[in-house]
Amino acid sequence: MTFNEFNFKDTLNQAIKEAGFTEPSPIQEKAIPLILEGHDLIAQAQTGTGKTAAFGLPVIQQMSGNRGIEALVIVPTRELAMQVSDELYRFGKIAGIKTATVYGGTPYNKQIERIKQANIIVATPGRLQDLLMSKRIELNPSFVILDEADEMLDMGFLDEIKNIFTFLPKERQTLMFSATMPKPIKSLAEQILENPKSVTITKKERTNRDIKQIFYVVAEYERDDALLRLIDYKNPNKCIIFCRMKKEVDRLSSYMTAQGFKVASLHGDMEQKQREHTIRAFKNGLVDIFIATDVAARGLDVNDVTHVFNYHIPFDSESYVHRIGRTGRAGNKGEAITLVSPNELRTIKRIEKDVGTVMVSDVIPTRQEVKVRKDNDLLLKIANTKITPSAKEMVKMLQHDLDIVTIAHLLATLVQEEIDVKGKDIIGLRAKELKALIEREKKWKGGKLNDSQRRGRNRRRTQEHKRRSKGSQDRRNRRSRSSNR
Ligand code: ADP
Ligand code: MG
Repeated sequence: MTFNEFNFKDTLNQAIKEAGFTEPSPIQEKAIPLILEGHDLIAQAQTGTGKTAAFGLPVIQQMSGNRGIEALVIVPTRELAMQVSDELYRFGKIAGIKTATVYGGTPYNKQIERIKQANIIVATPGRLQDLLMSKRIELNPSFVILDEADEMLDMGFLDEIKNIFTFLPKERQTLMFSATMPKPIKSLAEQILENPKSVTITKKERTNRDIKQIFYVVAEYERDDALLRLIDYKNPNKCIIFCRMKKEVDRLSSYMTAQGFKVASLHGDMEQKQREHTIRAFKNGLVDIFIATDVAARGLDVNDVTHVFNYHIPFDSESYVHRIGRTGRAGNKGEAITLVSPNELRTIKRIEKDVGTVMVSDVIPTRQEVKVRKDNDLLLKIANTKITPSAKEMVKMLQHDLDIVTIAHLLATLVQEEIDVKGKDIIGLRAKELKALIEREKKWKGGKLNDSQRRGRNRRRTQEHKRRSKGSQDRRNRRSRSSNR
């Protein structure tokens, strides 16, 4: 399917083309036609599935652009407000649609000025409620969108949301987007939506096929070594390492920094300013490795993350999906790598089942293997290097005292020292051990039997017992018969 089938106006088609979108994502394919038909909508899809365009495009299509605020988008955080408004600005700019962002912590006057000139506002609940209740602004939008509704619930914004809706016109099209649908969100939907259509992106569609999911089995004490070796081997462009706790984020950040990486960390107690600063540094490539907790990385949207590492496997499946979704975005390929100890194989199985995905096991490359890989890369690099005049000059100088082969050996030694591979040769389980462990795990099945399994076992035991005692009876009979003979 292509975007042409939606029959958008030319200005919008041009913007889609400029954004580099070639085909609609699953949520866009399902949601856009319903929104164009004028339905209220409740849509469930994970982050990174393209929800912004799913509502942004059909809403902008239906806007006139000359009637003040026509669309209101409510999002949980200031960061998301900026992201969503950037994306909407991209779609609307050719059609002359103006976007304003509304969030707390900035002066009122400037914000109100911008709101007066805008056609779409993207707002966080707190500041929006403020503005409405103090009558600093009045809104009459035809479209109201609640983005990341479940996150607003988590952040305790439910009352604000309900209050905001008392200020909005009854005659409107309302769209609600959420990654999950907890009860309070369902009942909110009943209050604010009218005969809504609903779309859900199923589990299969949800886990991105562009993400390769691999796990490595290591001993508890080998996690740091394993991480280093894998980063060394896979040579990520940008990567995120997920930890369970802030404490671990701090420790691992110091460790990786000491190993010579440019590291930034993100956790829940950081101030908003600091957070934004850190994320920007990561986006701009000033840091190579981002270390974060789940909570801190919510809504993190960086397109060119090549690898996600789970230092520990997360406890719940939702978090797993959310974490690995930080890579493989916007049509790029990505790898999600999980380190587990042998007894965590069960968690892998559970997540695979919950999420409807497959993680493949692999063996951590030995020091020797990484060395060979790096040597090959180096050979290729040498073959592709252009000789500079100053290099010629240097070789000429060296030739006063040394023959050309010795010079070559010395230079090769120097560049090879740069690519030294650290750590012990073998880390984690080898192929044979891994296979044995997976086999054992398959047989074991959790150690506890369910009721029907237990009844089956008892039945088998009883029959076995009967058969045995019957057998011995028969034998006794036979013996006595034979002795009678
Ligand atoms: P969500 O709100 O579901 O988390 P976003 O709307 O932020 O997802 O989209 C995630 C990324 O994917 C953005 O960078 C966006 O520009 C890009 N994107 C969205 N739709 C498409 C598409 N149809 N083709 C290519 N990239 C897309
Ligand atoms: Mg979004």
